[in-house]
Amino acid sequence: MDEISKRTFLAAGLAAALPIGAPSLGANADEPGRKLGYAILGLGYYATRIIMPRFAECEHSKLVALVSGTPEKLKTFGEQYGIPESHRYSYETFDQIASNPDVDIVYVITPNSLHRTFTERAAKAGKHVMCEKPMANTVADCEAMIAACKKAGRKLMIGYRSRFQAHNIEAIKLIRDGMLGPVRTVVADHGFTIGDPKQWRLNKALAGGGSLMDIGIYSLNAARYLTGEEPIAVNAVESTDRNDIRFKEVEDVISFQLKFPSGATANGYSAYSANFNRYRVTGPKGFVDCEPATSYEGQSMRARFSGQNGPREPAPQPKNQFSAQLDHLSECILTGREPLVSGEEGLKDLRVIEAIYRAAREGRTVKI
Ligand code: NAD
Repeated sequence: MDEISKRTFLAAGLAAALPIGAPSLGANADEPGRKLGYAILGLGYYATRIIMPRFAECEHSKLVALVSGTPEKLKTFGEQYGIPESHRYSYETFDQIASNPDVDIVYVITPNSLHRTFTERAAKAGKHVMCEKPMANTVADCEAMIAACKKAGRKLMIGYRSRFQAHNIEAIKLIRDGMLGPVRTVVADHGFTIGDPKQWRLNKALAGGGSLMDIGIYSLNAARYLTGEEPIAVNAVESTDRNDIRFKEVEDVISFQLKFPSGATANGYSAYSANFNRYRVTGPKGFVDCEPATSYEGQSMRARFSGQNGPREPAPQPKNQFSAQLDHLSECILTGREPLVSGEEGLKDLRVIEAIYRAAREGRTVKI
């Protein structure tokens, strides 16, 4: 049942007709303009330090539940955000969230290999899902997640926050408006110097891969949203010091070339041993440069095309990228639209990632 017909159904006072044990459709689903309730699943750095504080600036979203494997975190963050004990779940009790009408959306922010199972469980509990990038470790997992949400009639969105960030929105607009002429090249570099060798990001089973899965995905995703095209061929070179204790299981550096149907190309760089966060898009009439491009804050832009040569301030956006991302899914649910960055978008990145790894391994161009 879509959201509009669901609201009509509830408004008609027929909610009692739902079968006993059926997932709750959310409290007050018929109340216009209400804030949708999020459960945050996985209380690590990104969830607690970056995302949770941003609900304060949301118009359509609120934090109503927490899911964690660590009781102390549930207590600490539960008290900090005023989440009652009835709305705090362990990974074992998580499925009971089905009967919590305050929760509309589960936001999965765990290590990558767990994205699939928690997305499937959330969908089965009748909840919509926001899932962090990379969507999952494999194309097969992404397809299973899309199928699970589709079967449950619930929406699935991936946490590609840059699509809601002012400089990235501006870059896409300039390109689509033809200010650079047809895009010829994108150069996109993303990396950071990774520390603790024991962290999950360096464990292949949990992370699915190395820097490409974690940070290089920003180079790839940007190449796709800047060109607005899907790559048809991929080359890649990997360079990893396997004597470095951090890189026993996953890659450090991987650089890749993408060819798009229009003839545009992209050079992407990804590393766990160097700090980069930038892209440049070039066409016959000029270029757009962003550095940093996809960071949490502090983006800056330079552009050169007719009438413009130097720093450029993007059109202001009403919300920061995190609150805008959270509210986007809520609005899509309330209005029955598909999210800008749905599960299909996460799947497309994983398809190219698998091709990049294959191209590096086999030393040849891989066609997609
Ligand atoms: P983190 O290590 O800080 O947090 C991970 C959380 O998952 C921890 O609370 C941990 O206890 C929990 N967890 C559950 N099962 C676990 C297991 N088997 N092993 C290890 N931890 C387990 O990681 P993070 O930086 O918060 O990243 C979490 C997810 O968010 C990742 O998918 C990552 O790619 C994504 N992320 C996205 C952004 C972004 O800007 N969109 C930024 C950072 C992280």
